Amino acid sequence: MDAHKKDLVDLTCRLVNIDTTVPPGLNYPRISQVLASELKDLGVTPTVSLIPEASMRLKVSPEVGLKGPRPNTYATLKGEGEGPWVLLNGHVDVVPADPSGWSHDPFEPVVKNGKVYGRGAADVKGSNACEIFSMKALVETGAKFRGRITPTFTTDEEVGGYSGVNYLVDKHVITKDVDYCLSTDSGIEALHVASLGDAEYLITVHGRAAHSGRGWTGVNAIEFGASLIEDLKKLGEEISKRRSRINAEPGWGIKKMKPGLYVNTAKGGLKGNIIPDTFEILVDRRFIPEESEAQVRREIARVVKEFAAKHREVKVSMKMLLGYDPMLTSPNHPLVRTVRRVARKVLGRDTPSCGSQGSTDMAAVSALGIPIAVLGATRQDSNIHGIDEHVRINDLVSVTKILAHTFLELL
Ligand SMILES: [Zn+2]
Repeated sequence: MDAHKKDLVDLTCRLVNIDTTVPPGLNYPRISQVLASELKDLGVTPTVSLIPEASMRLKVSPEVGLKGPRPNTYATLKGEGEGPWVLLNGHVDVVPADPSGWSHDPFEPVVKNGKVYGRGAADVKGSNACEIFSMKALVETGAKFRGRITPTFTTDEEVGGYSGVNYLVDKHVITKDVDYCLSTDSGIEALHVASLGDAEYLITVHGRAAHSGRGWTGVNAIEFGASLIEDLKKLGEEISKRRSRINAEPGWGIKKMKPGLYVNTAKGGLKGNIIPDTFEILVDRRFIPEESEAQVRREIARVVKEFAAKHREVKVSMKMLLGYDPMLTSPNHPLVRTVRRVARKVLGRDTPSCGSQGSTDMAAVSALGIPIAVLGATRQDSNIHGIDEHVRINDLVSVTKILAHTFLELL
């Protein structure tokens, strides 16, 4: 593996160099082509699966702002004889990067001081390269294994999209028959066995527009909406006292996974002299594995209903924009124990199992009852989603080794 370090960095850079910002989901066919050709080099036949536009329209709100084709790329590497089925996953999309804060163009990767800098270097293109090289390690060394490994590179993870992992589940590419799932969409400091659910709700307050000079003839949606925000904030304070039984990831000041409710955007008003007739409030609800989307939606709907009953002048509507369920694998599952044991050998330290405060499309795999362990090359200081995002080259090598050895332990 150490001999392939340069190629591993090279592939990471080539992937970062393709701007796959979502929304809208740029250059997906290009990155899919690169990954398919890497898979072909392993001697397997890649499949590129496109979600039909009609299903997109049905499953994804237009407010999310997705555009263009959404190819998912996968293949199956077969061992000798019957054995377990391992699913590998990484997403190909990245969050937007505002170049003004960066030391260089976010999509022109820079290798410096043992790190690769660029949008997506850590989240999660470096780890996608690790997946390719972990399989290359098996193929090139002729290591014997049973069963099969199915690498999947999917779209729209960063927007809670349907078109990636969820689509492959609905298409039966990913089925209950998968024995173990390894995702690389996280860090090397801990092993994630759980993640928060995430649901975004758009609440719209409808008033009536009027000339400000005769302001009393209108109904000011912003002023009413502000008091609805206060009610939501109160609910948020109550929610923030809850805790999961799953340990939280280290380094963020909480011992157990913690839910939250946040008003993250508020939009309204057209002009200084018009009483605004609509006000949109976007609520981001992060929920622990012990809560369900239906339950959290009911909670918010109750606050909205009570508000509407108190303020009959306005009409209030609520719509869910996107969502992930929580993911959960028992910290004692044999898969988790195996990955931790292998990681300890490679890293010389423990990777404690814990729950991520992030949310992931792996929830759709978790819902099939498949155990999942999430370990990738990110660190707390990688600044994912931020400026000068980077990944350490040594971590890329370690993750590749951990994956390859885990395959051999499981298969
Ligand atoms: Zn990610």
